Amino acid sequence: MAAKLLAALTGFALLGPAFSADGSGRPAAPDFVFIVADDLGYADVGFNGSEEIPTPHLDRIADEGLRFTDGYVSFPVCGPSRAGFLTGRFQDRFGFTRNPTADPSNPDAGIPVDERMISEALASAGYQTMAVGKWHVGTHPSLRPLNRGFERFFGFLSGGHKYLPEELTVERIEDVKKRGDWYRTKLLDDDTPVEIDEYLTDELSHAAADFVADADDRPFFLYLAYNAPHTPMQATPKYLARFDHIEDRRRRTYAAMVSAMDDGVGEVLDSLDEAGRAENTLVVFLSDNGGAESNASSNSPLRAHKGTYFEGGIRVPFAVRWPARIAAGSVSRTPVSSLDLYATLVDVNDIAVPSDKPLDGRSLVSIFDDPTAEQPARDLFWRLAYRDPSYTIRRGSLKGIVDPEKGTMLFDLEADSAETTDLSRERPAAMRELGDAAKNWGADFPRDAAFPGRLSWPAEAD
Ligand code: CA
Repeated sequence: MAAKLLAALTGFALLGPAFSADGSGRPAAPDFVFIVADDLGYADVGFNGSEEIPTPHLDRIADEGLRFTDGYVSFPVCGPSRAGFLTGRFQDRFGFTRNPTADPSNPDAGIPVDERMISEALASAGYQTMAVGKWHVGTHPSLRPLNRGFERFFGFLSGGHKYLPEELTVERIEDVKKRGDWYRTKLLDDDTPVEIDEYLTDELSHAAADFVADADDRPFFLYLAYNAPHTPMQATPKYLARFDHIEDRRRRTYAAMVSAMDDGVGEVLDSLDEAGRAENTLVVFLSDNGGAESNASSNSPLRAHKGTYFEGGIRVPFAVRWPARIAAGSVSRTPVSSLDLYATLVDVNDIAVPSDKPLDGRSLVSIFDDPTAEQPARDLFWRLAYRDPSYTIRRGSLKGIVDPEKGTMLFDLEADSAETTDLSRERPAAMRELGDAAKNWGADFPRDAAFPGRLSWPAEAD
């Protein structure tokens, strides 16, 4: 009540959601811009405190909206994390437990067609849709963007990708003959290979901004999946020049790659302003997993990196903006998941969810409406099933890990966000309770991946 009174006094409640013109009194469907970075470190954005790498445009999302301090993804590497947030379901439910092969002849190597992707759900609700950038959830023709609810696509089907136009020499993914050549495929404009003449990150940003500028009156969904700042480490002089003061070459290139992406996000935000659509557009920004060891990213003070169940693998930069619904400058400390985005979009659009495909996320609308209010308790879970699966659970401030090789671990993230002190011996009852809950949660999942990985773990890191 106090928060509501304060809201009324300070005036932001007057903004309210935008209402549709059909006289129904229902809020108008928001546009949805979902921006994903690749292997970006938790500490490498201004809104999480970075001073070394300025990210003024990413910070705009947080400053004009809401920053989640404890935002998670459902897996610590690219493919499974994307399969999770694109379906709103924990990806092990359908065997997406590893990065898929880039094998266009395998119809099982990707998100199964009987899962309803967020693009498909929104298209069914009348949204115009476009995917830009990295796909990585299936290269078989049946699994590609244009067959998964996207009307438009500009990007590439594999995981990582080269950034310099002159290196994109392979016509199509079907032409890849040797490992690594999927980094060199030409960009697809819908399904047509095209030449590009700019730095890849810039090309993706332009395509995204153009989609916003050209959108018609229907609500739109733009999925902008940068591969930056994933390896290979490549940047242009324009961006490198901003970081002459960083001596380490890898770190300097990484900073330049992040900066290029930040410029691109600014381009998209400007395009929203120019189209007069910023007010009722939900913009989401997050990284698909934590910073990797290979790209000189920083997850400080979080422990470890991409590929692990420690916070540095799964807790990511995470901010949202929706001026019609979210008060500027909000911060939420509630643990949230990338899986919650799907649940949020079906909630605000009143889209029915098939009963045999229940969502694993929870709508964020109650947090949007009152970011500091206590939220109903829930557990967040992870399973890494490369060998014997490990299970991880977050319940309140406690995090439990059951690893068949390394044993059990218990951390209190409130006091110890860096996971330095294992409390499992000190608090055996809590450890047992959390471990049992996590194992029960994953007990019915298929044990094996639905498709071969492109390499065996841990080298499979794309
Ligand atoms: Ca990634």
